[in-house]
Amino acid sequence: MLTQKQSDMKARYQYRFYPTDQQRQSLAQLFGCVRVVWNDALALCKKSEKLPSNGDLQKLLITQAKKTEERAWLTEVSAIPLQQSVIDLGTAYKNFFDALKGKRKGKKVGSPKFKKKTNQQSARLTHGGFSIKGECVYLAKIGNVEPIWSRNLPSEPSSVTVIKDCANRYFLSFVVDIEPVNIDAKNQSVGIDLGIKIFAFMSDGEKAESPDYSKLDRKIRKLQRQMARQKKDSKRRNKTRLKIAKTHNKIADTRKDFLHKLSTKVVSENQTTVLEDLNVSGMLKNRKLSRAISLQGWGEFRTFCEAKSRKYGREFVVVSRWEPTSQVCSDCGYKWGKLDLKVRSVKCVSCGAEHDRDENAAKNINKVGTGHCHDSKCTSRRKKTTSVASVAEA
Ligand SMILES: [Zn+2]
Repeated sequence: MLTQKQSDMKARYQYRFYPTDQQRQSLAQLFGCVRVVWNDALALCKKSEKLPSNGDLQKLLITQAKKTEERAWLTEVSAIPLQQSVIDLGTAYKNFFDALKGKRKGKKVGSPKFKKKTNQQSARLTHGGFSIKGECVYLAKIGNVEPIWSRNLPSEPSSVTVIKDCANRYFLSFVVDIEPVNIDAKNQSVGIDLGIKIFAFMSDGEKAESPDYSKLDRKIRKLQRQMARQKKDSKRRNKTRLKIAKTHNKIADTRKDFLHKLSTKVVSENQTTVLEDLNVSGMLKNRKLSRAISLQGWGEFRTFCEAKSRKYGREFVVVSRWEPTSQVCSDCGYKWGKLDLKVRSVKCVSCGAEHDRDENAAKNINKVGTGHCHDSKCTSRRKKTTSVASVAEA
C-alpha cells in the first residue's frame, strides 16, 4: 500500500522467499518473541491509566525482562524487531487515538489487539537489523535469504517486515520512498459505479468485468463443511485448514492483481476519479449479497485508487451514497425516482434518451463528483462530497 506525508511518499514492495529448515525455526522463535513483547506491552498499556512511553516499555519488557527466568529466551533473538514491536504498538495507539479525535480520515482504526499464534506472523527489522547484498538479504540472527525479486526496489528501503502468512508462505515486505509519477491524464474525469458481475461501469461507457471467483469460493465452502466435521486439533483438520488458507490466498492474489491493474489504468488516464461511498457494512447484512460483495474487494479498490491518485498527482473524490445517482437522467437531469434492481435500462420520459442503468449511474457519479450538477441542489451536493486526495496516512 502507498502512503504519503506530503513530501515523502512511501510504498511497500513485497517478495516471496523460501527459508531453510534452520531459518524456519529461527523465524518461528523470532515471531514468538515479537508476539510476546507486543502482548506484554499491550497488556501493560491496557492496565495503565496513562500510556507508558516507548522508552519505559522497552526498558521494562525487553531489557529487564531478559534478566527474568520467564523471559530469558528473549536474548536469543535480535533486539531490533523486539524494540520495533514496542514502537509499532505506540504507532497503533497513536493512529487509534487520532481516529477517535477525528484527525484521521479514511479507514476506521480499532484499538490495538493481542497477537495470536494462529494468525499471520510478522517481525519488522530496521537499520542495523538487515542489509541487502546483491541478490541476498541478510536478516540479523536469521542469516541470508534470497527472495524472488519480481521487480526492482526503486530505492534503499528503510525497513523490512518478515511475514509468514496463514498458508505458511514467507515474504519480505520493504518500505521504500518513491517519487510521484509525472504523466498527463488523457481525460478530465471519470465516474465509476461499482457492481458485482461487472465490477466497474465507467462514465465513458467502458466496463471492467470481474474475475470469476465462484469456483474457488465453492471449494472453500466445501472445505469448511469438511473441517466442521473433523476432530479438533487433529492432523486432518489442520490439513484442511491449510487448504482453506491456500484457496483464500489464491482468490486474494487474483483479486489484488485485477484491482491493481484496473486502478492503475483508471488513475493514470483520468485527472479526477470519482467513486461512490458505498455502505459496504450495511450491504453485508444482506446475506445473499454479502458473500459476492466481500469477494469483490470494493474497499480495496478504493484504497488503491486513493493511493495511486497521490502517486500520480491526481484528484480522488468520493460522493455521498445518498446521492440519487440511479434516479436521475444523466442527460437532462430529470428525476424519475427509485428503480427496481431488476430494471437494467431506462428511457427518460423528459428528453427521450435511453440509458443503461449502471452507465447512467456512473455518469451521475462523475457529474456530482466534479461539481457539474444539473439542478439547484448543486451547491449543497458539492458540500457532501469529500476530497480525500490530500489526506495523509501513517
Ligand atoms: Zn433525460
